[in-house]
Amino acid sequence: MFCKKCGNELPDNAMFCSKCGNKTGNERQAEITNENNNIWKDHKNKIIIGAVVGVAVILCIILIFIISWSDR
Ligand SMILES: [Zn+2]
Repeated sequence: MFCKKCGNELPDNAMFCSKCGNKTGNERQAEITNENNNIWKDHKNKIIIGAVVGVAVILCIILIFIISWSDR
């Protein structure tokens, strides 16, 4: 493989260019990025579930308030 920045010839498993230090963006780094994306997606799902539960609780409180208000 060759450096995208300076065109220096590099071994295929190189993570950085030995000449200019530019990142090669090899498969190993891509895998790590995908893992980070999956962790973020899981985190995002938890936030969405938390938001849905929160909205449901607020709706229940509003519903209880409306029922108790209409009883009067
Ligand atoms: Zn380079």
